[in-house]
Amino acid sequence: MGAGQLARMFCLEVIPFGYEVSVYSPEKNSPAAGAGANEFVSEYEDVTALTDFLKKIDALTFEFENIPEIALSTIENFSERTGLKVNPSPDCIRIAQNRWKEKTSFQKAGIPTVNFYPVFKEEDKRSVPSKVKFPCILKTNTMGYDGKGQVKCKTQEELVSALADLKEFNHIVEEFFPFTDEASVILARFEDGTISHFRPSRNVHKNHILDLTFHPGEFPKSVEENLVAYAKKLAETIDYVGVFGIEFFIKGEEILCNEFAPRPHNSGHFSQDSGTISQFALQMRTLCNLPAPKNIPVKAVTMKNILGEDYKPGSVLWNRALENPYYHLHLYGKTEVRNGRKMGHWNYSGPNPESAFVDWG
Ligand code: ADP
Ligand code: MG
Repeated sequence: MGAGQLARMFCLEVIPFGYEVSVYSPEKNSPAAGAGANEFVSEYEDVTALTDFLKKIDALTFEFENIPEIALSTIENFSERTGLKVNPSPDCIRIAQNRWKEKTSFQKAGIPTVNFYPVFKEEDKRSVPSKVKFPCILKTNTMGYDGKGQVKCKTQEELVSALADLKEFNHIVEEFFPFTDEASVILARFEDGTISHFRPSRNVHKNHILDLTFHPGEFPKSVEENLVAYAKKLAETIDYVGVFGIEFFIKGEEILCNEFAPRPHNSGHFSQDSGTISQFALQMRTLCNLPAPKNIPVKAVTMKNILGEDYKPGSVLWNRALENPYYHLHLYGKTEVRNGRKMGHWNYSGPNPESAFVDWG
């Protein structure tokens, strides 16, 4: 499900294994089609077209979690009727697409998370501003990505006025956590419960969008162990099968879980040039029941996202990077360039990975 860059990079791993990939999305000439996927172009809500697609495939996974409930229940019912393998389960997608369910699941699993308050009804507009600590962030409960739909509020007045502007009640208010570092773990869980994971990475965001990933993150041993333990705990608690990326805020020894994505994650792209196995290959292996790797040796890689405004093929900077054999370019095949839109990324796998992109802006 979905045909964007994550589906494209999945194709690039899976087709050499002899598999055929089909993608379902409303987009024609999608990034995935450019990498060899058969394209099924229809709205997610089109139950007839979706069912036709499901009849033609042997196993289903997701590159995108913001799929309407009608599509998820169609997939779920079809799978129950026919035995079509669907990983991760629609229930895991439902958790990941709803910040309130997601954070409630973290709490149930004993994973610390930021304090949060739902805004689901008129009454919450009045009660939440007197409960929450400031600064806080008002977020849409569903359909958020890359910081979209977020308003930071420094004072009670700012929150009251942001809440007054809301036209519907499907939001949460989160307390701002003054982290010193952000981290993520990419984890794969197989049908038999086997888990493979990468060491935690350190992530740097710019304007709420991922800018840089340093792998491995080099956190204190105890922090690193806790990050991995929380990732495993989530996977086991919600019986997750497939690959996910889970994001954390860190301050000293304190760790809070922010969110998880039920698919390969932007902060896992380093793995494409880490000389071992990539997160997309792990997604394929979990879906197709191939063996789990015995271990994943670590190689330092730094990833930098290319947003619309940084998309400069042929520029002096890009040509210089391409002359260096350690810079690897991954473009997503998007035809329209927009500011802030993810167009691709660079991976750097050479010496001094921490300084690979310092002058890049
Ligand atoms: P999205 O779903 O858009 O990725 P996130 O909740 O991950 O939304 O927010 C994007 C980024 O905004 C985070 O990686 C972090 O840098 C910042 N951010 C979000 N929520 C908080 C918070 N409660 N405290 C501090 N920073 C936050
Ligand atoms: Mg995020």
